[in-house]
Amino acid sequence: MITLALSKGRIFDETLPLLKAAGIEVLDDPDKTRKLILATNQPDVRVVLVRATDVPTYVQYGGADLGITGLDTLLEHGMEWGGAASSTGLYQPLDLQIAKCRISVAVREGFDYAAAVRQGSRLTVATKYVAIAREFFAAKGVHVDLIKLYGSMELAPLTGLADAIVDLVSTGNTLKANHLVEVEHIMDISSRLVVNQAALKLKREPIRRIIDAFAGVVGQK
Ligand code: AMP
Repeated sequence: MITLALSKGRIFDETLPLLKAAGIEVLDDPDKTRKLILATNQPDVRVVLVRATDVPTYVQYGGADLGITGLDTLLEHGMEWGGAASSTGLYQPLDLQIAKCRISVAVREGFDYAAAVRQGSRLTVATKYVAIAREFFAAKGVHVDLIKLYGSMELAPLTGLADAIVDLVSTGNTLKANHLVEVEHIMDISSRLVVNQAALKLKREPIRRIIDAFAGVVGQK
């Protein structure tokens, strides 16, 4: 049995065409079922639905053989910047080029971010992406106090909780609607296929078949 961990929503929807190219069709619609294990047309392939941030954990500890999740989630999970295999035991063979966005620093309109950074003031930064933010500001030599949030980051600069936020930006509409402006582009984000290294050794043939089919679609063969 091959188990693929996916999260509901954008990643699930954008993964369906990739699965189809690999000859795999999910038999249930996750929006219409309460099931967390979804069968496919291939008796030896199943999909498990987990929270996006749990995908690396499932794959690392073998609850799933493969998973698809954003680079943001992988970096927060402890995958090294720019690294493929790492101490997490996750093999990252493919950038699937789906769920693309960027991770940026944003501040309230009118906040002089450049001056704050230049003067070496201690910035308070609210984010769900503490590891990415810490690494980014440390590399710039900017002192920051990080506040971990789990959602609605846009509120933090508006309520005085923080000077800046580090968050995912796609169209920029959410920032604009909340009178925030993007002041730094930290990195581009897309979803990655990750594979449990032990599973790749034990179930090499069927896992390779899935990786190769995905690679064919994203043009990285
Ligand atoms: P937008 O208004 O299009 O810039 O989208 C920004 C909002 O969508 C923020 O709340 C982000 O956290 C979220 N978002 C944007 N892109 C993604 C993505 N690829 N994966 C998850 N959340 C995202």
